[in-house]
Amino acid sequence: MKITSRVLVIFLCLGIAAQAADQLIVLKAARLFDGKSNALVQNAVVIVQGDKIVDAANNLPIPSGAQVIDLGDATLCPGFMDAHTHLTADFSGNYNEHRLQELDLNVSEHAIRATAFARATVEAGFTTVRDLGSRFVASREFVDVALRNSINKGVIVGPRMLVATKGIGATGGHFDPTSGFRDFLFGREPDYTDGIANGPDEIRKAVRFEVKNGADVIKAAVSGGVLSLADEVDTPQLTSAEMAALVDESHRLRKKVAVHCHGDQAAREAIEAGVDSIEHGSFMKPETLTIMKKKGTFLTPTLLASDWIMKKIDNYPPALQLKAKEATAARSEMFRNAVKMGIKISFGTDAAVYPHGQNAKEFKLMVDLGMTPIDALKSAMANDADLLGIGQKVGTLEKGKFADIIAMPGDPTSDITATERVSFVMKEGKIIRRGTGTLQGTGESATPADVGAPVD
Ligand SMILES: [Zn+2]
Repeated sequence: MKITSRVLVIFLCLGIAAQAADQLIVLKAARLFDGKSNALVQNAVVIVQGDKIVDAANNLPIPSGAQVIDLGDATLCPGFMDAHTHLTADFSGNYNEHRLQELDLNVSEHAIRATAFARATVEAGFTTVRDLGSRFVASREFVDVALRNSINKGVIVGPRMLVATKGIGATGGHFDPTSGFRDFLFGREPDYTDGIANGPDEIRKAVRFEVKNGADVIKAAVSGGVLSLADEVDTPQLTSAEMAALVDESHRLRKKVAVHCHGDQAAREAIEAGVDSIEHGSFMKPETLTIMKKKGTFLTPTLLASDWIMKKIDNYPPALQLKAKEATAARSEMFRNAVKMGIKISFGTDAAVYPHGQNAKEFKLMVDLGMTPIDALKSAMANDADLLGIGQKVGTLEKGKFADIIAMPGDPTSDITATERVSFVMKEGKIIRRGTGTLQGTGESATPADVGAPVD
């Protein structure tokens, strides 16, 4: 008898859970952008059931029994995506202080801090990120993999993550974590387990090692960088043979390749080798952009990173200041050219260079340099989904896609900074943010809408 009633209780609980999952939620707002079209539509209705979109269009009839959430004078759109973040790091303040902090804090503390960065990112409307590199000098931890898995399991709140583990690069290059420190301070030269590899065979070994440990995407540095102490910003750092091995091995394992690259020569060689995206691309000349267009390579411009560094230039050592000025001066012209030439542009910001959660400031920088607001929006939706290879699941508001839906006040095509004031965030059908408060639960726990409240 006792057992029977227990079984009955279990069945009742399962029944309630099933009902909650089947609950229809209707989101209404003044406007809708589907993530891929060339215009917004008025009188938006999006119907959500469980974790999926049932339908999204204007003036749809409201199904009976649905929970209706009316967001008023707002624009509904797919959750933003950021194709270039570093959620396990923060080097937005004083450069030397952060360099010391990276050595002071144990890796567990870095990981705990990363959970707050993940939350800030999704609350700003970024429901998917491609996290392009996570390493701690002299550590073998894969904090980005742990963060991704904990989000997927519902242990913590954050965006869907595609992670790169340790960026792959040459000895003494942009990704060498011991560059700038006294020789052998950390007891050994970094090797493929740190992402440092020389020669095609070692590059293949590094790719295999990273995929073995959970990498969704492969990141490599093919030219120097701004925030590294021992290299020049535009010098090539991998040979063509190394790049060919990098791309071949990654693509065999069905992983895309994103390369950090400022220099023109390195970009040209990387594009010829078949990489999927050029990150930064500051010094790329029109001839290189032409090859890029022919090959269909994406540009992830990360304008916000250089914008932030230039605004806080005194926070950086003199050698880095010089590199930042050169790269920033070049990247504005490069970006204008890329827009004019119709290069595929993905939305990526290099979050960690600036404080996490401010990702949407990239939109205005793109528009200021000649991109239309609608194209800037698309870059963070359909374009990023395409680059990340997840266009079947996310990136647009369409039947059958995951219910990753956000709302911002007003019309972002008349004021692109509306993207910085996201006040409603749903990820896979669960409401994470509504108004200024934050939520962790499902639609049932939602409180009345407060659209229009600023994020920061
Ligand atoms: Zn980066």
